[in-house]
Amino acid sequence: MYWEERWHPLREEWVIVAAHRQNRPWSGGTIEHAEEEPPDYLPDCYLCPGNERVSGRRNANYTSTFVFDNDMPSASPEAPRDLARPAGIYRNRPALGQARVVCYSPHHSLTLAELEVPEVEELLQLWQGQYRELGARPEVEHVLIFENKGEAVGVSNPHPHCQIYANNFVFKTIETEARVSQRYLAETGRVLFQDILRSEREDGRRIVCENDSAIAFMPYFARYAYEVFVAPKQTHPHIASLSDGERRDFADVLRRVLIKYDNLWQIPFPYVMPLHQAPTDGGDYSGFHFHIEFHPPLRRPNLLKYLAGPEIGGGNFLSDTAPEEKAAELRAAADVHYKQAARENVR
Ligand SMILES: [Zn+2]
Ligand SMILES: [Zn+2]
Repeated sequence: MYWEERWHPLREEWVIVAAHRQNRPWSGGTIEHAEEEPPDYLPDCYLCPGNERVSGRRNANYTSTFVFDNDMPSASPEAPRDLARPAGIYRNRPALGQARVVCYSPHHSLTLAELEVPEVEELLQLWQGQYRELGARPEVEHVLIFENKGEAVGVSNPHPHCQIYANNFVFKTIETEARVSQRYLAETGRVLFQDILRSEREDGRRIVCENDSAIAFMPYFARYAYEVFVAPKQTHPHIASLSDGERRDFADVLRRVLIKYDNLWQIPFPYVMPLHQAPTDGGDYSGFHFHIEFHPPLRRPNLLKYLAGPEIGGGNFLSDTAPEEKAAELRAAADVHYKQAARENVR
């Protein structure tokens, strides 16, 4: 039985773990999964190769990855600069920056979990380049790379892709993690994330998989039932400084996590997947340790975790599950994707 409060050292907040309630009666929302495989190419998909987008621009006939400027950007060099001044203490400013879309593959029906290791490596290499390029712009203070996957998080187009928000401010979560990490470094001389890794290794129950230079674990302070962090073992403030070997290892661990997710319930597992990287505003972020966080919305097959009173109303998470139990489920899930296993059985 798990019923306690756990400290989230990166966010500096309490997470309430109340796993003794997880089998309470439920009559709320569920989500359904389309059983039908989408086709490999869709003429009206705005991400498929060669197709026309809402802007009238046409996608290249790409064969691996493909990056383009978002046609409906949240931030842009062309954002209106001549803004009306608000009343009183309120203030505003132009939404400068750049928003991009990255297609992982020309194949409409594939997901990141189904790409081969070299293809995932190529994507990581692309992310490195985007972080460097966009982060070097004077108006860009932070580069947020993220994937929203699945209808459960509001994405109706299954074409495998992620987004890049390069903004003129640092997103709140990153701002908090960066500030806390720098203070920790100043106070202890150590990198906070390294101490988290050390604590995870000491316990061991929440490690999902690892290799020489990369590791995946469900943190002690997880806020979502199947929350997983993927990180290099050495401290890098951002993805761009990973060596070729570290990038290969990272691709391997990331892919294994994705496959395990899909294999849990044999569905394309929905998630929000942000890359947490140091800001690019010129500050000292030597204590920041790059990692990817997975925030899956499902608690059980077809059962969504709703953010409500504690989370939206109060700002702290209440978790109905114990990370130790959920990590064991993920560890036990197979390393070969269920679709690939099915294809091999047919052969
Ligand atoms: Zn498509
Ligand atoms: Zn983080």
